[in-house]
This record gives sequence, C-alpha cells and structure tokens, in this order.
Amino acid sequence: MTTNDNEKISYAEIANAFFDKAAEKLGLEEEWRVSLKVPFRELSVEVPVRMDDGKLRVYQGYRVQHNGVRGPKKGGIRYHPHVDLDDTRGMAAIMTWKTAVMNIPFGGAKGGVNCDPGKMSKRELERLTRKFVSRIGLLLGPYRDIPAPDMNTNPQVMAWIMDEYSSKHGYTPSVVTGKPLDLGGCPGRVEATGRGVVFIMEEIAKEFNTPLEGAKVAIQGFGNVGSHCAAYLEKAGSKVVAVGDVMGAVYNSRGLSMSKLLTHSRKTGSVVGFPQAESIANHELLELKCDYLIPAALGGVIHEKNAKKIAAKIVVEAANCPVTHHADEILEDRGVSVVPDIVVNAGGVIVSYFEWVQNLQQFAWSLRKVNAELSRHIKRGYNEIYKLSKQKKTTLRMAAYMVGIDRVAAAEKMRGG
Ligand code: NAD
Repeated sequence: MTTNDNEKISYAEIANAFFDKAAEKLGLEEEWRVSLKVPFRELSVEVPVRMDDGKLRVYQGYRVQHNGVRGPKKGGIRYHPHVDLDDTRGMAAIMTWKTAVMNIPFGGAKGGVNCDPGKMSKRELERLTRKFVSRIGLLLGPYRDIPAPDMNTNPQVMAWIMDEYSSKHGYTPSVVTGKPLDLGGCPGRVEATGRGVVFIMEEIAKEFNTPLEGAKVAIQGFGNVGSHCAAYLEKAGSKVVAVGDVMGAVYNSRGLSMSKLLTHSRKTGSVVGFPQAESIANHELLELKCDYLIPAALGGVIHEKNAKKIAAKIVVEAANCPVTHHADEILEDRGVSVVPDIVVNAGGVIVSYFEWVQNLQQFAWSLRKVNAELSRHIKRGYNEIYKLSKQKKTTLRMAAYMVGIDRVAAAEKMRGG
C-alpha cells in the first residue's frame, strides 16, 4: 500500500504495530505473540486470463488464511492493481481481530487479485474470477474458508465464486457470502457495512456528546460503504458536507443531497462535477473542520505527514487501516478520537455470518430480523470495547485489539497443539 505522499507502508505493518502494542498491554507471552501474528496459511497463484482482444494476461492472486481457531476463516476478495501478498496478510489479520471482537464464530482471511476491474469487461472479470477460484479452491469450503466482497467486487462476483465452487462440490451457497438475493444472499447484506457504521455512530454520538442530528460529516469514498453510510447519516439528520472518490471530492457547507449526488455519480462515474457543490482535492476533504471524518476508501490515507492537519473531532474508520500506526499516535496526542476499523466496519462480516447461518439451515430471515440482529451484535461489540477503554484508560483501538487478541489466544490455548 502506498499512502498519499508515496510513503510505502503495508496493511501488515500497520496491523502488526497495533497488535504488538495491545499484546504488550495484555502481557501476552512471547510464544503466543509469534504464533498469533504469523498467518496460518498463504497461497499465491498465477491467474492467466484470455482477454477479449485475444491476448493472454497474467495476473497474480492471493489467499491468506490468518487464523481459524474460532471458526472457518472469513474475509473479502479485493480486485485492485495494488493488491500484493503483504497487504493481503495484513487485511487477513485484521479479519481475525474483527470477528473475535464481534464474537462471531469465524477466523480471519483475505484474498485478492492485482487487476484493474475498471479497465476490464464483464466477461473478462468472469473469466478472471473463475480461474482465481479454480486455483484457490482447495482452501475454500463452508467450514474452512468463506470469501465475501471487498473493494471492486460485488454480488455478481460472489455468484461466479459460488457457481465455480459448486461445479466441483455440488450446490454450496454457504461457501461465499454477499451473494445476490436469488442465490441465497441475505437481505440487507449489500448495505450492511454502511448501516453498521451508522449504528456505531449512534453510540459514539451519546458518549462523545456529538449528536448525529446537525453533525457536520466528511466522507472519503462513495462506493458500497461510503454511499450507504452517507444515505443513513442524511436520514439521521447529519449534514454530509463533503464526499470524495478516486477522481476528487465535492463540498457544500450547507450539506449535499445524497440522492442527487448518487444519481450524478451513477450517471457520470464520479461525484466530481456535482452541480450543487464546489470541487475540492481529496487531501482537502481529509483536512476539513467537521464533527465526523469517515475514511471509507483505501488504507493509509491518514499518515505521519497529514495527521497534524486533521481538523475533525472524531475519525470513524469505515475503511480498513485508513489511519497508520504513526498517525494514530499523533491523533491521540492531539485529542482527536479514532473509532477503529475492526469495530466500525464489522457490519459486513456480521451480516455475512447471518447469510452463512441461513445457507446452512436453508431457512431465510426477514430484513427486519437481519437489521435488528446487526444492531444488537455491533452495538454489543462497541459497548464492550468502550467499557474496557474506560477501565484501562486506553484508546478504543487498543481496547478493541485487546478484546480480540484475548479471545483468539484463549481459544488457541484451549485447543492446544
Ligand atoms: P468500493 O469499491 O465499493 O468503493 C471504494 C470507493 O473508494 C470508491 O468510491 C472509489 O472511487 C474510492 N476510492 C478508491 N481509491 C481512492 C483514492 N485513492 N482516493 C479517494 N477515494 C478512492 O469499496 P467498498 O466495498 O465501499 O470498500 C471501501 C473500504 O471499506 C475498503 O477499505 C474496504 O476494505 C472496507 N470494507 C468494506 C466492506 C464491505 O462490505 N464492502 C466491509 C468492511 C470493510
């Protein structure tokens, strides 16, 4: 991963730095620190794809299983030109701590291919997905490893994964989550991560005395997570004053209309050029004075060089690893509260858990039940770490890592070996 100022830093480096700090606070024995940090299994595969023009392109794909001691390994598949083994490792570790903090019966994994889906046709993407699954398929299974969507992958990609796996093993919807509804998907899964972010913000709003109604919010990323989160915040009465995507950002001090911005972005492919707003640069969005700053795009966007300029009161990490470990310390010193990714964006994996349960039982839940259970699980997870952060006089991030590491270490010790 490269941060905005071309400083090279990986998700693994960030996740390990947070792990080391929390393990120290827990007084975890050295042998368990090593065992919990090193991934259980890693697979690197060649993914050759015949492109529409007849030429063969060779991509690199990865699946890293970080830990499966509490349940099947679970984590998304990312399609992005920057995907590499080190970043995949870091994101897999984050999934282990996330599922443990939320106390759902999964471990952690992550996968990806270093392709640029924006430059590929639907047929090319299907061929790439099927080839990738055929090469990592030996690791997958409903009780082994269950992929899900992440950046640039969606329900259609999950449908191809299910179909490819099922062609070899028989009908197996529970091998992947985030599927389309007609193929055993779960109502509310597409919007679950964004909805979960806002459930968490309802709790933060009380404790940090910053009500969502009337709050000024800036959001980086207007994809699955950012756009749903923005829409729920607007419903809650917040003023979403700035939104950005890979092309740039837009700002209106009176608040942007989310339905109009979504229509514009769907039509043009970007938020840029939205008529009822002024254009700003992505780095300006991050530095806006606001109540809540929500990075919901890439990792590493708040780093050592810009952390001093962050003017938001509270940073809500909807993306994975948007704040580097160096920036985290600077923000803490400056009194900027950071609500960590392994809690904030857990809504996706929680509803994936519900999808898996429904697939195994072949019994569908209503949207009402999904949302009620999501709210219960994610708020319970947040309140547990909030309480611990007060007890131990530490940050929410440290409290979250401590809860996650403690649960996984306890399971490792009990299982033995
Ligand atoms: P997405 O592909 O749907 O959207 C990504 C958004 O980020 C797009 O608007 C894109 O334009 C923007 N973006 C990309 N590069 C950018 C850059 N350099 N600067 C500014 N904006 C940029 O992805 P998503 O599913 O919404 O995921 C966003 C983040 O949330 C990722 O970090 C992902 O790991 C995390 N996450 C997603 C889920 C989920 O369920 N989708 C769950 C947990 C965490």
